[in-house]
Amino acid sequence: MNKDWSEKNKEIHVLLSKEATFRTAIQKLIEFREELFQQITWIVEGYPKKAFYQLPFAGAKGYHNKTLAYSIWHIFRIEDIVAHEMIAGDEQILFRDDHLNTIASPIITSGNELEGEEIVEFSKKLNVQRLYLYAKAVKESTDQLLLQLQYKDIKRKFTEETRQKLIESKCISEDENAFWLIDYWCGKDIKGLIQMPFSRHWIMHIEAMQRIKNRLCKIARKGADPTAICGLSCDHCFLGEWCGGCRTEYNVCSFATCSEGRICPNVKCCNEKNIDGCYECGELENCEKGFFVPSNDGAGAARAQSLFIRKHGKKEFLKVQTRVHDRYDFQKVQEILGQDYKEALNILEKN
Ligand code: SF4
Ligand code: SF4
Repeated sequence: MNKDWSEKNKEIHVLLSKEATFRTAIQKLIEFREELFQQITWIVEGYPKKAFYQLPFAGAKGYHNKTLAYSIWHIFRIEDIVAHEMIAGDEQILFRDDHLNTIASPIITSGNELEGEEIVEFSKKLNVQRLYLYAKAVKESTDQLLLQLQYKDIKRKFTEETRQKLIESKCISEDENAFWLIDYWCGKDIKGLIQMPFSRHWIMHIEAMQRIKNRLCKIARKGADPTAICGLSCDHCFLGEWCGGCRTEYNVCSFATCSEGRICPNVKCCNEKNIDGCYECGELENCEKGFFVPSNDGAGAARAQSLFIRKHGKKEFLKVQTRVHDRYDFQKVQEILGQDYKEALNILEKN
């Protein structure tokens, strides 16, 4: 488990156990859930439609043998069922505001009963953008529920009536891979439910989603030119696990994601000029587009790298990148190359 997340989770659960620190625990839990949810937001905003139904770890043991779409559905169906059927005793979010129709899900269950190709087929049917809105609505509703809880509530246990209600809701499949959930949840008090579906369950599946997207980016990069269009090296980029590179569909380069139509201005311009990259452009030295905008602290380094490619070629560029990364400890290449592009080019040529 991610060490930072695991520690935050542990701290919250310790604070949750004492009346004096209960409110702090709830506040920290809500903040932590926000942090975790951000990972889902980045994934939904960054990746192409097809990323959400890929099963790159088919047959593996663990939470990662799912798709990205299934993972989102599963996390928030479980939370919605537990929060509303069990704790609040009101209508689930899925059945409000037309979520079920707009997501286009063929099931209302948690999905535990699905395996392998069934998960893929299920995921293909989902409208991921609407699924994201549903996930957000569930999260916000649960946050409100958490804020309303009093310390005395967390020891509340569940009765046979709740168990029957869960069965009758048909939100948990009768399949043996799913049905056990009903007894598992009903055996817990509210504190136990906060500790699993509302926190630990998120961590396990969001970590798995990170593994899935890292793998998808890795697959996308196979055979793709690792030299970014602006002149950076995707093979050496600190965003490598998030981004498949700007020559693939998994392009989540920061300039692309915050640009109109999610197209990096350098990529757009090179496509219009019908050139392979900025290193082939006569305007490179003075260009202020995209990555080369003066307010970008990496503009000089990017320009220098593009100039290096122009002078020495891509092969030599990738070699020098490896040498620089072996020699120095840094995250962004501008930490080593600085902001003056002529100086930066010098550094690259000396390495
Ligand atoms: S962020 Fe840019 S340089 Fe990094 S991998 Fe993505 S396209 Fe390549
Ligand atoms: S004008 Fe700028 S962004 Fe466009 S190809 Fe030339 S260097 Fe790249």
